[in-house]
Amino acid sequence: MKDRKDFNVNIVLMGCPGAGKGTQSAKLQDEFQLKHISTGDVLRAEIASGSELGKKISGIIENGNLVPDELMISMLENIVKSTDKGIIFDGFPRTVAQAEALDAMMKRLGREITEVIMIDLPESEVVSRITSRRQCKKCGAILHVNPEAPLTKCPACGGELYTRADDTAEHVKRRLEVYHNDTLPVKNYYLNSGKYVEIKGNQTPEKVFEDIVNVIKKAK
Ligand code: AMP
Repeated sequence: MKDRKDFNVNIVLMGCPGAGKGTQSAKLQDEFQLKHISTGDVLRAEIASGSELGKKISGIIENGNLVPDELMISMLENIVKSTDKGIIFDGFPRTVAQAEALDAMMKRLGREITEVIMIDLPESEVVSRITSRRQCKKCGAILHVNPEAPLTKCPACGGELYTRADDTAEHVKRRLEVYHNDTLPVKNYYLNSGKYVEIKGNQTPEKVFEDIVNVIKKAK
């Protein structure tokens, strides 16, 4: 039996907003010693830094639209080049152009995508999941609160919890539209690659994780 650290994988984790990509990526990163690249986190860090680029992209993100492909692709290439670890791509590719660019980039770097895992969540669950989502400013944990009595402190580290600016009911509608128009075609791009697998997203996070781990272990 292989040690989990020996799994040499480069995973694309797909799913609609709120499907649990961030939560599962954090667990997979620990389990398999992978590098977690969340393009959403990269962009939010850019905004938080107050840079010119951050100022340019903050409106795009808050309104639930996509940052231009060329910018995303060049940002991503620098991060991929900086690591020898297996990678979890969380939130990338979000368009077919990004998927094509990712394949070309991985080939150039002598690497390849090994699994594409879609966390499939019924749309009826998306709005409630997203509007109840909070993230810890200190440790980055993602959790879901009861909207009637929302928590303000992280139960794990006591850090302050915040709601992402694009996690409001009005912005979720636009994000779902973008998901349907631009990101779902990425599923067709990968469908016949022999790498594409769907996992049911409306299960406990632990069961979703178990299913993903099984996919990774089976593929090796
Ligand atoms: P996420 O944290 O993955 O939900 O991403 C938050 C927001 O960042 C998205 O709604 C987009 O505005 C932007 N974003 C993240 N990843 C990408 C990407 N690959 N291409 C374009 N925009 C992105």
